[in-house]
Amino acid sequence: MLVVMRQGASAEQIQGVMRAIEARGFKAHAIPGEQRTAIGITGNRGAVDRPVFESLPGVLEVIPVTHAYKLVSREVKPEDTIVRVGDVAIGGRELVIAAGPCAVESLEQTLIVARAVKKAGARLLRGGAFKPRTSPYSFQGLGEEGLRILAAAREETGLPIVTEALDVEGVDLVERYADAIQIGARNMQNFSLLRRCGKARKPVLLKRGIAATLEEFLMSAEYLLAEGNYGVILCERGVRTFSDYSRNTLDLAVVPAVKQLSHLPVFVDPSHGTGRRDKVTPLSRGAAAVGADGLIIEVHHDPDTALSDGPQSLTPEMFASLVAQIRQIAPVLGRSL
Ligand code: PEP
Ligand code: MN
Repeated sequence: MLVVMRQGASAEQIQGVMRAIEARGFKAHAIPGEQRTAIGITGNRGAVDRPVFESLPGVLEVIPVTHAYKLVSREVKPEDTIVRVGDVAIGGRELVIAAGPCAVESLEQTLIVARAVKKAGARLLRGGAFKPRTSPYSFQGLGEEGLRILAAAREETGLPIVTEALDVEGVDLVERYADAIQIGARNMQNFSLLRRCGKARKPVLLKRGIAATLEEFLMSAEYLLAEGNYGVILCERGVRTFSDYSRNTLDLAVVPAVKQLSHLPVFVDPSHGTGRRDKVTPLSRGAAAVGADGLIIEVHHDPDTALSDGPQSLTPEMFASLVAQIRQIAPVLGRSL
């Protein structure tokens, strides 16, 4: 249920409605809009007594939210949400590119890649210190040492960092270093991790699960917002299909579908989405064209020796070419880079 306040409703009236919601044991979420404030009600098991709220001072109307997800839906908030990661605004006019290695391997490797992607035009640095690997025998990441390396790369380049938290126990640590916390595809429905990240003070990049429907994807985002974290960036990273020429099938059609249903910004990850270096640039062009708010790209200075995801990692030269191409496409779409 959504309580829509009249234009010009006072802060006191808004507080009054929020108190009335909470007095009934529900949770109130104030959603300031360009024209007027709306207040989302969650936590109600059955129907909310509409007339009670409709009669409160400053209330314009009380409308039911038809989707199972509430706070992420455009019904509740028609305007696009802009998420700030460090000093970078995501979801506005600028098309934002995050780039960096799949995994942080060493200070030297991370600095080489960070300098190169910054020079080419990346606005955020990505890199995993805790890696979700299919095999327990594969490189699992450097842990806190990896986070310290990322912080050093941020210090030098000024690029805010996006890095993954693998589990609830790891969030405290990741939150201390990261500018945005990544929740990986395999964790999209790790509900305790979602709840914990919902309480985090840093924005979250939520990747779509490998077999997740759009509804499931948005419901996972809802967990984050329901706990009070409104800084959520969705990320399409490919889903599992019968494709025998790519690691995953990048579902670009989900971008306009998300945009229709939700106000949250959407990134596309063509690196995991295709798993093949030669397909990353064409799919990046496609992602920009369908309206992605940003791209997240794996780059390694020597992909053949990468400790994870070498086959899908671009060289710095390939990455620079990718950015140059997106820079040409962006103005056609009314965006800047
Ligand atoms: C990654 O970004 O390196 C990663 C592991 O992504 P995903 O969770 O999408 O597989
Ligand atoms: Mn990877």
